[in-house]
Amino acid sequence: MTKTKVLIVGGGFGGVAAALELVNHPHFNVTLLSDSSSLRYYPTLYRAATGGSRANSDIPYSVIFQNTPINIVQAEAVSIDRQARQVITKDNQAYAYDFLILGLGVVTNYFGIPGLDQYSYSIKSQDEAARFKKHLHEQLINDGRPDLNYLIVGAGPTGIELAGALPSYLKQITKNHGIAPKRLNISLIEAMPRLLPNLPKATSRQVKRRLKRLGINVYLNSKVEGQTADALVINGQPMPSQTVVWTAGVTNHPFFVNNHFVIMGRGKVGVDAYLQSEPKIFVIGDNANTPFSGLAQTALHDGKFVAQNLIRAARGEMYKSYEVKKPITVIPAGPGWAAVDTGKFRLHGRLGLLVREAADLEGFKDLEPWSQAAKQYFTQFKTDDSCEVCSLAKARY
Ligand SMILES: Cc1cc2nc3c(=O)[nH]c(=O)nc-3n(C[C@H](O)[C@H](O)[C@H](O)COP(=O)(O)OP(=O)(O)OC[C@H]3O[C@@H](n4cnc5c(N)ncnc54)[C@H](O)[C@@H]3O)c2cc1C
Repeated sequence: MTKTKVLIVGGGFGGVAAALELVNHPHFNVTLLSDSSSLRYYPTLYRAATGGSRANSDIPYSVIFQNTPINIVQAEAVSIDRQARQVITKDNQAYAYDFLILGLGVVTNYFGIPGLDQYSYSIKSQDEAARFKKHLHEQLINDGRPDLNYLIVGAGPTGIELAGALPSYLKQITKNHGIAPKRLNISLIEAMPRLLPNLPKATSRQVKRRLKRLGINVYLNSKVEGQTADALVINGQPMPSQTVVWTAGVTNHPFFVNNHFVIMGRGKVGVDAYLQSEPKIFVIGDNANTPFSGLAQTALHDGKFVAQNLIRAARGEMYKSYEVKKPITVIPAGPGWAAVDTGKFRLHGRLGLLVREAADLEGFKDLEPWSQAAKQYFTQFKTDDSCEVCSLAKARY
């Protein structure tokens, strides 16, 4: 039997979910083409940026797809030859498909604000998280004088998670480096009038109260206009800082504009009721113009949905129409605390954190065999400090 070639481009939440659903089906030959060798588990990257284990937010494809007949190609997709039904990579290789699933994720957007690309930090990948962490330690090693102002731009979930984790991490590393305690200011900067503008006002209020209790300054209605080596310009005023983290903007992957897809609101790709942008080409996760695009939960849902429709078609059945899955929002803010909004009820505090931990375990379990998922879950309790001073200090505890 000639197998149907499914080419999945992008090995993130959506692409991996689709591949897991199809890979053991006898009707399909599945190729996963991704520019990395592992899945970035973004929701825990803020921990990697603040001393947590790198392994907690990185799941190698070799683990996810162990003992399956998948073809994994590590390459960067740059274009599509629709006539020949091929995707072309940067190294000029062509990969054929009968069905194509695209889940390439988003890229950072600085909205053209001068200086941000040069001076700000980001935590959208392991490398970026590691660069930020290195900076925190280097400023202590170099002259023993920590930056007094830490500015996180963007009061969405990522900015809040990072802001919440920073006070205890800074306290710990300044102590490790033998530096006398100083008042370090951590500020969260948001252009909108409230935190978490996409969530109910009550959740915004709870989280704001929590951040204040952690000693974090929250600046709302504060528009970033530029950055220099020593300051961030907000509403026309420079705020001194050498540590600015930009979490306030992403935009759709340039692949879609470059390859003439139909672009809708928020730069997302227009899709039909089956998540097709055109016959036999599916667009999922962050790339698709769906109501809850931009969340890992949606990308997992989309990947499974498309794969299940392909399985239906292989059985001679009709495609089902897409149904949105309302996401549950869980936002950790500092040790032992998270806010949860299920759409039906809200809770916060330690119980919220338990929900978050259950969600992480469930998330790992969606992607890995049980034993690996449990191992992955427990890596959150490990630390990962490449700083020599901190390693020596820890050995003395
Ligand atoms: C710091 C952070 C924290 C987050 N926290 C949460 C959270 O708590 N809960 C939640 O629901 N969502 C969270 N999100 C959002 C969530 O991670 C995304 O919605 C989700 O990753 C989208 O999945 P995806 O499959 O569409 O894209 P991605 O997971 O981004 O995967 C895209 C894949 O495509 C690959 N790729 C990119 N370009 C190419 C190319 N040219 N060729 C080949 N491969 C390519 C990438 O390497 C990657 O493997 C967070 C995001 C960030 C940045």
